[in-house]
Amino acid sequence: MKVRFWGVRGSVCSSLTAAQVNQKLFNVMNDYDTMRMAYRDPRTNYKDFLSQLPFWKRGTYGGNTSCVEVDCGNERIILDMGTGLRPLGNSLFKEMFDKKGLRLSFLLSHVHWDHIQGLPFFGPLYVNKETGIRNSLNFYGGTNWMKQVEPCLRMQMDPPNFPVSWEEIRRITHELVGSDVYDMMNFLIGGVSVKARKLNHPQETYGWRLEHKGRVVVYTTDNEPYDPLFPDPKLLDLAKGADLWITDCQYTKEVYEGKVGGVPRHGWGHSYPEAVAQTALQANVKKVVLFHHDPGSSDRDIYDMEERVRKLVQAGGGKSEVEAAWEGLEIVL
Ligand SMILES: [Zn+2]
Ligand SMILES: [Zn+2]
Repeated sequence: MKVRFWGVRGSVCSSLTAAQVNQKLFNVMNDYDTMRMAYRDPRTNYKDFLSQLPFWKRGTYGGNTSCVEVDCGNERIILDMGTGLRPLGNSLFKEMFDKKGLRLSFLLSHVHWDHIQGLPFFGPLYVNKETGIRNSLNFYGGTNWMKQVEPCLRMQMDPPNFPVSWEEIRRITHELVGSDVYDMMNFLIGGVSVKARKLNHPQETYGWRLEHKGRVVVYTTDNEPYDPLFPDPKLLDLAKGADLWITDCQYTKEVYEGKVGGVPRHGWGHSYPEAVAQTALQANVKKVVLFHHDPGSSDRDIYDMEERVRKLVQAGGGKSEVEAAWEGLEIVL
């Protein structure tokens, strides 16, 4: 399985400002000067110099909201449809024309805006059937708050909220199917075995476990721990032994508890490093990817969060690799 991250932010998009880009440039130039003066290092190869800087200095984690692509060969599964779905859609055009259509399965954690807003901007939706292209798109989602997945997706595109309605897209372009999902549900998408479990978030959320050819990817975003020391058995059931566990880690514990950064975030439905590390240890996952970064977190904040989880896992005697997700990150299992 090839896993690519297209949107890693939670709640709402947040791109870098001009002042932040300027500060990054200033810091890098400053580091370069310091390196040359301190070590009398004659290096002028900027590429080498940049490559040895930590990621938070030389890059950025990205501002698009939740969207992860899992390429399983014959099946392509897309986890959530935040604004990262827009660039993902653009990357699929060539394949769509070559194969005369795409077959995609969307697994939705839930239908909060940061998990569905990319859909109206998914380019392949707007290719007319008359071109001979037939796309088949299947949306799997829970019946959150007694509403099925399809009406929830349709509603966000109803004019005047958006100029092209769901019905119009269905009529002129493609096959669109909404499939309702329930807790404990197991099903197959081609050769990929899928398991859904309901987790803890306002209006409910679903975590997903995907198994294909002996490899396991688990996606549990927007999930608040009940107790950091005792992970939710449902979460452990999904994550156990995963090769890759993609998890919500939106806040530091201090922010979660309201000791810094304003009001406490209890009941907002998100996780923090202490709970993530404990779950990684108990579920014995091979790799943890921190996801759904807070829109208010700087690149440095996210890097610090990654360090925090890594240290907690090591202190607990665990061996899980830890990495914070960034737009463009690709992991092959
Ligand atoms: Zn979210
Ligand atoms: Zn949410």
